[in-house]
This record gives sequence, structure tokens and C-alpha cells, in this order.
Amino acid sequence: MFQRILIANRGEIALRIIRACRELGVETVAVFSEADREAEYLQLADEAYCIGPPAASESYLKIDRVISAAEIGNVQAIHPGYGFLAENAHFAEVCRDSQIEFIGPSHEAMAKLGDKVEARRIAAAAKVPCVPGSKGLVESEEEALKVAEEIGYPVLIKATAGGGGKGIRPARNDITLRSELKAASAEAEKAFKNPGVYIEKLVEKPRHVEVQVLADNHGNALHLWERDCTMQRRHQKLIEESPAPNLPQSVREDICKAAVRLVTESGYTNAGTCEFLVDPDNRFYFIEVNARIQVEHPVTEMVTSIDLIQQQLRVAAGETLPFQQRSVPCTGAALEVRINAEDPDNDFRGCPGTITKLRIPGGPGVRFDSHVHEGYKISPYYDSMIGKLIVHRPTREAAIACMRRALDEIVIEGVKTTIPLARKILDHTTFIDGRGDTSFVERTW
Ligand code: ADP
Ligand code: ADP
Ligand code: MG
Repeated sequence: MFQRILIANRGEIALRIIRACRELGVETVAVFSEADREAEYLQLADEAYCIGPPAASESYLKIDRVISAAEIGNVQAIHPGYGFLAENAHFAEVCRDSQIEFIGPSHEAMAKLGDKVEARRIAAAAKVPCVPGSKGLVESEEEALKVAEEIGYPVLIKATAGGGGKGIRPARNDITLRSELKAASAEAEKAFKNPGVYIEKLVEKPRHVEVQVLADNHGNALHLWERDCTMQRRHQKLIEESPAPNLPQSVREDICKAAVRLVTESGYTNAGTCEFLVDPDNRFYFIEVNARIQVEHPVTEMVTSIDLIQQQLRVAAGETLPFQQRSVPCTGAALEVRINAEDPDNDFRGCPGTITKLRIPGGPGVRFDSHVHEGYKISPYYDSMIGKLIVHRPTREAAIACMRRALDEIVIEGVKTTIPLARKILDHTTFIDGRGDTSFVERTW
């Protein structure tokens, strides 16, 4: 195992990684921007270095500064968390060239799967069903119109480098397809520095079901069951759970096996997620791979009792996975609510400010993964997530009751949050019955 690693991230995931490391006896080097100088979690790291001004482009995204901190801190590996450099294949390659282990997949596997069009090709080769759509990038208007004619409207134009729910545009006829295509490509170039777009059929009333996978460097790949992330707004997840409700066992097993095939086919190692859409007839379609740890990994940790961050470190250190597929349990039901500092009355814009009062819920089955405290200033520079409230109970019904109780207990004052929306979702029969689809939240509220 490594003696010392650097965490190239901030906020709750930086703290989550510090916690995993302390239990493993691994020392941690944190990095921070000037905006995060006062963050309390930095005190739990063994060392911490400032890597620049508040703007992420000047600090958390600056590869040379992160690598310099790693060299000064004398670490053997870097954990990238999620967001920032986590899916930057160039960064993973620079780490390797600097003789620092990147805690994630190889840069080759990341580059292949991080490109959604390429990932669709690999999925097809692994006999994993994909959403009907263009074979590769759509290079011209004629080609786009032809694909749309074949698969039928409505379609989605998607950025091959997209992420975080951005770079997805619907088109319902030839006219909108023509006009949206150029706009989508220009937007993708601006947001992801890659103008490539492709077309997918818009799956109607889908559920979002994803599979957690884990693969070591010795040819072992397995799944840690699925998560349902159907509760979304603007293609961003609000509530996640495991296991997925109302998913027939045979479909569940097929999806999980498909994810393992995809990982095996692409030579992917470490932790990753294969995302799928499930239509109302329980047919599933691959959409993308997230080549990193995900925000919602805790629900999987709760039902499997496997610490995913620790497994990431073990795999990166060259260890063999310590369990086999048949010994990965899925016990009880877990739910996660993302708590964002956002203003529901102002189109859910980020709502930076100071947390003036904080009451953290507790008691049986409750876990709160967050870096904030009373007096904490939520910075306008980064995404608006304050923390994640996670519950684990023997049944889904009990987990919902536990989450309601925890949401009633939690107090966050000083900024507006998504807590009231989460509370409403948890009271809605559509959610309770597990009958929602990905547009349920926006349709209803
Ligand atoms: P998850 O699949 O883990 O739920 P999200 O899509 O919510 O992940 O993204 C996790 C974090 O990474 C968020 O902070 C999101 O803004 C950021 N992110 C993910 N992909 C990209 C990308 N391609 N470009 C910029 N930010 C991204
Ligand atoms: P990102 O990289 O931004 O996470 P994804 O491809 O994973 O993008 O899609 C994000 C969300 O957008 C999905 O969870 C789903 O709600 C919606 N979506 C994506 N593709 C489709 C599709 N073909 N049909 C319907 N909804 C889709
Ligand atoms: Mg996604």
C-alpha cells in the first residue's frame, strides 16, 4: 500500500478520501486554492499546499501546480476525486510520466471511454445494447437528418465530451435539428474544447440505472450492483438509491453483466460506472461510462459494506481484489440526497453565502458526507454541493422513512438549499412507488 498520497480535489470528496486513507494508515497531502484556505478538512490532512487563486482554472485544474505539490509532498500516488482533473486523460498520463500513480484507470482506457462516441463503439463490440443513434460523430447536417429519419424523432444531440448534464439538446423535427446542431457543436467547443456531437434517440420516460464496477490489474472485473438515479433535474442527479426499485431480478442481472463485459472489453481498471437508461418495458440501453469515483458512491458502500475509495487505493497499489462476484452482497436499501446551495425561487441558481446555523442529523442508519460547518463560507467559484445525506435501512420503505426523518432534523441556515425539494419528492407517491422517470421532478415541480 502507498505510504502517502495527494488529493487533487476539494470539499466533501477531499474529506471522504482523507477518511479512507486514515483508516488504511496512508498519509495525505491536500491542495487548496486561496478560496479554501480556511476549510476545516485541511486540518485532517497530514500536509496541505496552496496551489493558486480561487478560480479552478488557476488552481484545481492546473496540472503543473498539482504535480509540483505532489513532488514537494513526496507522494506516491494522486487521487483525483470527481470533477476537476478526474476524467482528464492527459493529467493521468502526466502523473505516470512523473512516476506518480494515478488512482483511476490507465490514461488509455480513460481516453477511450471518456469519449462518448468511442464508448458507444466499445459497448457495441461487447454486445451491450446502446441507445439507437449515429454510428460515430455527426459531421454534417445531411448526416444528422439521415440519422434522425432512420431512428425517428424526437432525438437528442449530445456532446461526445459532455458531462455534468451539460451538452445535451433535444430536437423534435428537421427544423430544430438543423438549428440546434450548430449551436450544440459551438457550445460543446466552448464548454469541453471539443466540438464533436452525436445523435441518440430520445428514450421516452426512462429511468437512469447505473452499475458500479471494480476491476484490478490482474484481470478480475466485477460489479457492485446498481444504483437508480432517476430523480434528476436538468440531467443532474438529485436523489440516488440502491438497489433500483421495481427492476426485475433478471433485468438487473443482465445490466450488471453487461457492465462487466464492457469493462473487460475496454481493459478498464479501478472503480468506474456504466450508465444506462431503462425504458418502461425494462429494456436497457448503455449511455456512458464515468471513469472515476462518483458522487453517489456511498449508496453502494452502504448496501455492499465495501469501502470504494479504499478499494481504489488497493487496486492502484497493485493489489488483487479481495472478493469474488458471488460474495458481493446487496443488503437492505440505501438512499442519498444531494444537498446543494441553490435557490429554488431563482431557477435553482447557485446560492453562495455563509452557513449561519447547522444541525447535522444522526441516529440509526444515517450518514452525512460533508465538509461544511457553522460559519463555513460557500464559495461562488465551485459547484454548489454542500453535502450528501445518506441512509441505509433493511427495506426501501424504512429507508424512505429514515430519510424523511433525517431531512426533518437537518438545519442549514444562511443559504437556500435543495432540502425542501428533496423532502417533497420523498412524500410523493410516484417516488414512493418507484414509478418515476427522469423528467418526473421537472414535470411535477
Ligand atoms: P456523477 O455521475 O458522479 O453524479 P456528476 O455528473 O454530477 O457526476 O458530476 C460530478 C462532478 O463533476 C460535478 O461537480 C460536475 O459538475 C463535474 N463534471 C462531470 N463531468 C464533467 C465535465 N465533462 N466537465 C465539467 N465538469 C464535469
Ligand atoms: P452526462 O455525461 O452529462 O452525465 P449522460 O449521457 O450520462 O450525460 O446523460 C445524462 C442524463 O441525460 C441521463 O441520466 C438522462 O436523464 C438524460 N439522457 C441522456 N441521454 C438520453 C437519451 N438518449 N434519452 C433520454 N434521456 C437521455
Ligand atoms: Mg452521465
